[in-house]
Amino acid sequence: MTEAHPATPSAPPSLVDALQRPLRDLRISVTDRCNLRCTYCMPREVFGKSFVFLQRAELLSFEEITRVARLFVDLGVRKIRLSGGEPLLRHGVERLVEQLAGVRDADGRPVELAMTTNGTLLAARARSLKDAGLTRLTVSLDALDDGVFRSISDSGAAVGKVLEGIAAAQAAGLAPLKVNTVVKRGVNEGEILPLVRHFRHTGIVLRFIEFMDVGSTNGWRLDDVVSAQGILERIDREYPLRPLEPNYPGEVARRWEFADGGGEIGVIASVTQAFCHECSRLRLSTDGKLYTCLFAAEGTDLRAPLRAGEDDAQLRRRIADLWAGRTDRYSQLRRAATELPVRKIEMSYIGG
Ligand code: SAM
Ligand code: SF4
Ligand code: SF4
Repeated sequence: MTEAHPATPSAPPSLVDALQRPLRDLRISVTDRCNLRCTYCMPREVFGKSFVFLQRAELLSFEEITRVARLFVDLGVRKIRLSGGEPLLRHGVERLVEQLAGVRDADGRPVELAMTTNGTLLAARARSLKDAGLTRLTVSLDALDDGVFRSISDSGAAVGKVLEGIAAAQAAGLAPLKVNTVVKRGVNEGEILPLVRHFRHTGIVLRFIEFMDVGSTNGWRLDDVVSAQGILERIDREYPLRPLEPNYPGEVARRWEFADGGGEIGVIASVTQAFCHECSRLRLSTDGKLYTCLFAAEGTDLRAPLRAGEDDAQLRRRIADLWAGRTDRYSQLRRAATELPVRKIEMSYIGG
């Protein structure tokens, strides 16, 4: 759900939400399907054989996505991330990357174009993604041990495939490359140090993410969360760490460097240190609904007006009105709340 980028470029100052947060990041889910069944995201009991995924006609086309993306850039978005589901399962996604890479802001600058993938299908695609204009890539990898990886991803996928994908991305020049690891207590805590050892001195930034209560199906309990603080202490005991300044205001990952020059790591403390006050993200689901928060229960449909022939000005107004009324700060309220919303939207549907 998170990503870093260098100093946020200037953007139209006007569009802020009800809590004075600007609109800067757009996450686009390009498919609700995935070839893994990570237990914290798409548990097989729910996303099994009988689960009904979206049909082709329901998906926004690449042309529709690109048109919407242009409107967002007009409104101040400076960074677009493709996610899912598994974005590499969307047939010909490179063509979408190419179209989005052509989008320019009012000063003629391209947006930052990133993707989050599970990496299993990346080895053969890294070069074409780079050639299509992808600027940044994040690969999710929760374990180096095959057994642990298979049990978290509830699949027969092999860690070696993901590592091959990461190597191909590095070779293709997709830098800076990041690896995201969700840590769940009693499941992959033992993988923290092996992952750190593996990615030190590689130029790849490893980031640990607290297990979140997204969706309604992953059986989340606060007890399952290993805090960012706990993760850092574990690493610091073996490899002393020093804090780094954020790359830009509002960066969700807290950055640390190895004191011995081994590189950088990050932690994303979405549960224990909520960062809603700086959240500048909007999410577009595979079927064209806008979500102003990862934990939203309802989206705002953009596909119907888009397909009904509304012009750019009308669509821009819809988006601007939605953002202007935004008050979401779920993570900040989570700790205080005794009753949380009963049904939230699934992450595989709106993109992490
Ligand atoms: N399939 C791609 C992947 O796994 O990278 C992209 C979509 S996935 C929903 C995006 C990110 O969300 C992944 O890094 C994943 O680990 C993270 N994620 C999913 N469920 C999560 C949860 N309950 N808590 C924290 N992170 C989660
Ligand atoms: Fe698929 Fe990514 Fe969710 Fe895992 S985290 S089930 S790879 S969408
Ligand atoms: Fe943003 Fe919602 Fe996450 Fe808060 S809980 S950081 S508002 S997506």
